[in-house]
Amino acid sequence: MTSTAAGAEFTAMWRELAVIGRHTGSGGYRRYAWTPADADCRAWFRAQAEDRGLAYETDRNGNQWAWLGDPAAGDAVVTGSHLDSVPDGGAFDGPLGVVSSFAALDDLRARGARPRRPLAVVNFVDEEGARFGLACVGSRLTAGGLAPQDARKLVDADGVSLAQAMEKAGQDPDAIGPDPERLARVGAFVELHVEQGRALDLLDRPVGVASAIWPHGRWRFDFRGEANHAGTTRIEDRRDPMLTYATTVLAARKKARLAGALATFGKVAVEPNGVNAIASQVRGWLDSRAADEETLDGVVAAIEQAARERGARDGVEVSVVRESFTPVVEFAHDLRDRLAALLGAGVPVPVLPTGAGHDAGILSAAVPTAMLFVRNPTGVSHSPAESAAEEDCLAGVSALADVLEGLACR
Ligand SMILES: [Zn+2]
Repeated sequence: MTSTAAGAEFTAMWRELAVIGRHTGSGGYRRYAWTPADADCRAWFRAQAEDRGLAYETDRNGNQWAWLGDPAAGDAVVTGSHLDSVPDGGAFDGPLGVVSSFAALDDLRARGARPRRPLAVVNFVDEEGARFGLACVGSRLTAGGLAPQDARKLVDADGVSLAQAMEKAGQDPDAIGPDPERLARVGAFVELHVEQGRALDLLDRPVGVASAIWPHGRWRFDFRGEANHAGTTRIEDRRDPMLTYATTVLAARKKARLAGALATFGKVAVEPNGVNAIASQVRGWLDSRAADEETLDGVVAAIEQAARERGARDGVEVSVVRESFTPVVEFAHDLRDRLAALLGAGVPVPVLPTGAGHDAGILSAAVPTAMLFVRNPTGVSHSPAESAAEEDCLAGVSALADVLEGLACR
């Protein structure tokens, strides 16, 4: 059980953070990297660290750390998440992990637990990539998965580069880059996150452990036909790419459902985009995810085949380009099993995969990494409707404290 003190701390922190970067019109959060709202979140983090007597530091990439114990001792147990948001995001995605991390340290203190390993809370900067278009910039730079010269060149919608934005926020953009020394001091990273689906709700359980992050990718489908008059062109004479596109959207749904995968066309661009004109070109972006890469490849190949077959009938040319791909992330099995054992004393804790990317996924290439999920009753995420019950959040704090105690205090 979470101590009452840790519960009260959680509620107080939650309330303080809730007003930062909230858009009064939409009710959602607009906390984009290196903006004033982000600076307010970062000031909040620093104040939480200092209130607890934790040693505060910002690393070369702008990630914030709060240390209990000597970082140089090594084999640290690190927990945390991110404080930035997608446009009009919910309150829980990211902040729940950071607030729970501080509350879990409070809980450990209330339990009288004595850490044998250094503990730290981290806030990874720019996880959502809402401003510069690339997710997990802070953790990618640290883990060496993003070249500093490429990061500095990222630009936002107003043409401001990441380098300029960092400089304006008082962070040196010339200092960014891989941080292997820092990562070498981390023995385990545990990220608590609100679930972005309904698996825990369907199991009627407040907390779960992550098994893996599904491989996922984005593919651009171009359908080229012929623009013509909507009122005078005979049906038989049309080469209408919208038809091919529509059939492909339906095929994507069907192929994904049959394979137990996910496939979504969520973005489309039409030329010339006129009400009374048959389109000359439709460009649609497919996001697809599956439990393993073989299934994912199979689903995308089947969708592409359906597009080409229909395109041949419609007189429409189809081309497909893979724009990005992220391989499967298997979280460290021994750490995952350790968490499941620490949390499943009575009833086994649910162990579930996720289709969403996280800093934990990026870091897993460099350090043993695990994730805890907290029930989200509707499964809605990246929206102001994202939610979690307070008692579930406190169950998450308690679970995280159990994990930190089991890993660092025994
Ligand atoms: Zn997140």
